[in-house]
Amino acid sequence: STDVTERHRLAEQREHLLAQQQQQVRKLREMDRMKDELMAMVTHELRNPIGAIRGYAEMLADDADLTPDQQTFVDVIDRKSAQLQRLVEDLLDLARLDSGQLSIDIRPMDLAQLIRQTLEDHRPAAQAKHLTLTAELPERLPLRADPLRLRQVLDNLLSNAIKYTPEKGAVTLTAGPVTGDDSEDRGRAPCAMAVLTIADTGIGIPPEQYEHLFSRFFRASTAKDAGIKGTGLGLAIVRAIVTAHGGTVTAAPRTGGGTVFTVALPVEPSARPS
Ligand code: ADP
Repeated sequence: STDVTERHRLAEQREHLLAQQQQQVRKLREMDRMKDELMAMVTHELRNPIGAIRGYAEMLADDADLTPDQQTFVDVIDRKSAQLQRLVEDLLDLARLDSGQLSIDIRPMDLAQLIRQTLEDHRPAAQAKHLTLTAELPERLPLRADPLRLRQVLDNLLSNAIKYTPEKGAVTLTAGPVTGDDSEDRGRAPCAMAVLTIADTGIGIPPEQYEHLFSRFFRASTAKDAGIKGTGLGLAIVRAIVTAHGGTVTAAPRTGGGTVFTVALPVEPSARPS
């Protein structure tokens, strides 16, 4: 009978522990939800004032009567508020992602054209560092995707390539269609993908850090050691957008130094719940 009471005692203990654990899980979930809400709220409230500061700074910058000193100050306000604006937009995107509200608006578009446009927007930044910025693109690369979101992906990957490549380096972009006959999926129609690569001759990423690259707030030691500023949010957003399109994004070392990012997107994404 001591055996029975002992078993009974153990069972009770187990039940108690289980209840405690469940309570803790509930509490953590609730805290997580509150964190998401706070983040979304704060970010949202920052958006308007920053927009106003930027707008007026831009107006002032166009004023011909400014002294050189004043011009410098206005430029700093403009640059710093632009930086804040990007940060807020990134945080908002992540908040949307967490609440399942990152919307993807799929429509027919031309990826080659989007890449050419994006490239021209980044050319001044590349020129300022004497980087060669080249692209090998087909005339057209039609696919169904969200052009604004893909623009965000390209902006992030290109600005990273430029940011993490020292003076006189090179950033090279390629894009093209790939018809993969997936041998594991015989019988299904071959999946046509559009594949985009962005290669740079930059500071690279230590091999053991590749696995963390697309995690929020992660920054590689090479970037930190070089004293290059960043938030570690861009690649997390890139991955979320590409995944929402049913695609993949990977990074690998470039032969000869630097990094290559590869984005593969289905030409005809199937409707997916996001
Ligand atoms: P951020 O650039 O703001 O730090 P990202 O999420 O865009 O954030 O990138 C995360 C990290 O990945 C960077 O901090 C950097 O360490 C590394 N990284 C991204 N792109 C490159 C690149 N082209 N070359 C070297 N390192 C890169």
